[in-house]
Formats: sequence, C-alpha cells, structure tokens
Amino acid sequence: MKIINPSNNKVIKELNEDDANSISKKYELARSAQEGWASLSLKERINLVQNFSNLLAKNSNELATDLSSEMGKPHQEAMNEINGAIKRISFFIENSSHWLGENHVHTDGFTKEILSFDPLGIIANISAWNYPFLVGVNVFIPALIAGNAILYKPSEFSTLSGLNIGKLMLEAGVPKEIFSVIVGNSMAGEVLLKLPLDGYFFTGSFKTGKYIAEQVAHKLVPVGLELGGKDPLYVTDELLDISKVAEAVAEGCLYNNGQSCCAVERIYVHEKVYDDFMASFLLEIKKFRTGAITQPNHLNFLEKQIQDALNKGAQILIGGKKIDSLGNYFEPTVLGNVNHQMEIMKEETFGPVVGVMKVKSDEEAILLMNDCEYGLTASVYSKNIERAKNILSKVNSGTSYINCCDRLSPYLPWAGRKHSGLGTTLSFLGILAFTKPRGWHIRE
Ligand code: NAD
Repeated sequence: MKIINPSNNKVIKELNEDDANSISKKYELARSAQEGWASLSLKERINLVQNFSNLLAKNSNELATDLSSEMGKPHQEAMNEINGAIKRISFFIENSSHWLGENHVHTDGFTKEILSFDPLGIIANISAWNYPFLVGVNVFIPALIAGNAILYKPSEFSTLSGLNIGKLMLEAGVPKEIFSVIVGNSMAGEVLLKLPLDGYFFTGSFKTGKYIAEQVAHKLVPVGLELGGKDPLYVTDELLDISKVAEAVAEGCLYNNGQSCCAVERIYVHEKVYDDFMASFLLEIKKFRTGAITQPNHLNFLEKQIQDALNKGAQILIGGKKIDSLGNYFEPTVLGNVNHQMEIMKEETFGPVVGVMKVKSDEEAILLMNDCEYGLTASVYSKNIERAKNILSKVNSGTSYINCCDRLSPYLPWAGRKHSGLGTTLSFLGILAFTKPRGWHIRE
C-alpha cells in the first residue's frame, strides 16, 4: 500500500496491508482478551485512556506532521484537530463514570430495579480520512471505556495517523489485543463485515454506510453510521454585522478545504441583504489559501459538479477550476444563479465549492433547506433568535446552529438524519452507544 502526499503526489511510505488471515488473527486475539478488559474497573480503563490522551499532547507536533503529509491539511489545522481530540477525550473521561455506573432507578415493593450497562464485545470501527483523530475518538474512546475490544480500520488515506494512534494506545498501556489497527482499503473493510463482530461503527460516505448496514443487518448487532452532509445555511435579513457573518460563513465553507461532513455546502440569502452579503462574502473567500484535496480523483468530481451547474445556468462568481500544481489543489469556488435542479445544491460536494441562492422569504428558505436527502446540520444567521429557532425547528437535521456553523461539541449529540446517518456519537448518548443495557429485578 502506497501512502501518497496529496500536496505533491509523492510516495511517502509503502506499507504491508492486512489480509483475511491477519485480520482473523487479530479478531481471535481480541475475542480471547475482551472479557479480561471488561473485568477491569471503569477507573482502570479510564486511567489508560488518560495516558493515551497525555501521549497525544506530548507527540502532537509529530502526529500533526504525519497527518498533514498524508491528508493535505495545513499543519496548524492538523494541530487544531489533535487538540480538539484531546478535549473530546476529557469529556468522555469526566462523564463516563456517571453514565455507565449502576443505577438504582426504582423500588417496587420488595423488588429493587437496577439499570446497568454491559459492553457490546468486539466492535469494528471503520473510519474516514478527513479528521482521523476527531472522528476516531468519537468511537474508540467511549467504546474502550465501556469495556469493548476494537478492530480499528483507518481510511487508506489516513493510515499513518491510524498507525500512530495504535502505537500510542499500546504505549498508554491498552493491550494490543484490545485495540488493533487494520491496515487496508475496502477489501480489509469487507473482511471485517464477514467476521462475527458485536457492533459496526462507521464514518464515511452514504454509499458505503448503506452497503455496510445491509451486509451486517442479518447479525442483528448495533450499527452506527456517521455519513455525509449537504449542509444548508440561511442568511436572514436581520443581521448584526454583515461582514462578520460573511467571514464566519466563508470559514464554514472552506475549513479543511470543505472536506468536512458539516461544511457549509449551500447558502440561501434573503433578497434584502443579498447584494451586501455577497460583496463581503466574496472578499472573504478571496483571502483563503486552502490545503490540498486529499483524493486526487476528487478534482475531476469537483469539475464535473461545477460543469453540471454551468450547463444548467449557474455563474462562477469566483474560482471554478483546478490549480496548476504537482499536488491536488482546487480554487475556492462560489457559484451564483444556482437552483435545485443542479447537483451542486443536492449532492455532497466535499470540497471548496459552494452555491449561493437568493430567497424571498423564510418559508422558501425552509423548503429549500429540506429539499435534500441529507440531514446533518443546518444553520441560520439572524439577530432575532426566536425567528431563527422557529425556522430551524422546521428543518429536518440532527444539529441546528444559530449564528454559527461547522462546529461540534462533545456535550451535544452528533446524530445525522436521513442519509446523514444512523445512531448517535458524542454526548451521553454517545457514551451509551457502545453498550447493551441490562435491567436487574432484585428481590432480597
Ligand atoms: P468512504 O465511504 O469512501 O470510506 C470510509 C471507510 O470505509 C474507509 O475506511 C474505507 O476503506 C471503508 N470502506 C470502503 N468501502 C468499504 C466496503 N465495501 N466495506 C467495508 N469498508 C469499506 O468515505 P471517505 O471518503 O473515507 O470519507 C468521506 C465521507 O465521510 C464523506 O461523505 C463525509 O461527509 C463523511 N464523514 C462523515 C462524518 C460524520 O460525522 N457524519 C465525519 C467525517 C466524514
């Protein structure tokens, strides 16, 4: 397997991939060790996770260098990602004991009714490349704390980071049988689908997520899917400071080069503020220098989506093409005169390209925001919070942003609707997601 730097398309490293045999061995080892891991006290497991977090902090510069070189994001954004992962781990460390502990919920006559949680067993964590640390910790940290063993398959586009995570887990004291890294692409993923695992947790595209859910459905084990988005943002005609709004929206579109599940991918602007907003927004977009696009064939995908829009009457307001370079670079691009017949307003783009549409009313904005198969996040900018809340309560998405966008908090659930996913990570729901509840009826 060749690891390629997307900023110059040079091979950084060659690695051996796992095959069906080596993956089965890792599975057998996990099976033999999982009960022992689950029998440690919660505190012991949490201490090991704390060691891992300390090691992330200690090695952040080297980790960020590898992440940046294999995935193309600027070093500073890679550092932000690692620091963000450390913060999320703190949330899990501080809150897991409360949620996973035994809870005496009721007494019925002489019968005590108690709720407790068992780990699922051995789970697959099949991950995406765009934020390997952040999307990874959403799954493997609460899963480890709950007592599961994990077969962790990083994306083939973030393998070095995946291997770094595995190395630091071992250094932290997590047994190698309990956290194994599987190196490979979809073929390695397919092997995991065939093993008798106790749960499948996936981050990636709708297409793969749906396929995985179908393949493992007959096992009747939990499946968690964090999938794509086509996240809308509506700029109303009641704004505090239009240039600040434009700055925040541009960041929401272009952070991580638009390669975020919750990147702003379509913008609706009230006609009363359209001209002013666009003047500021395009100025902001002009200021950006983005990193490389991770997957080389994605450059053609972006060009095709733009061409589809142009064929149907869109106009390029800025950008629009690949940048001539050894690496995979694309101009930050804004399209105007767009409509919902165009792929750019309905299909995930996952790059530095956004379409902007003028709307006449909140009702029109709500209709358009809902006119999409995805339902990850939606955002409204308005100084009238009640109006924004009212609009968002009619939009079918798992996350609602008012006067902000493209952000996550470990305290809140991350739960895509429609084609954006199934199940929840983060928050107390994301702590319980890797457990099976047990109801105790105890008559003494
Ligand atoms: P992808 O679906 O191509 O791959 C994801 C993972 O699945 C990789 O590890 C890949 O090797 C594996 N895989 C591919 N085919 C498989 C198969 N047949 N069987 C088993 N495993 C298989 O997605 P990607 O390109 O890595 O990630 C980008 C997508 O992820 C975007 O759609 C993005 O929106 C989404 N994403 C969602 C979230 C979220 O929290 N909702 C977070 C990050 C990324």
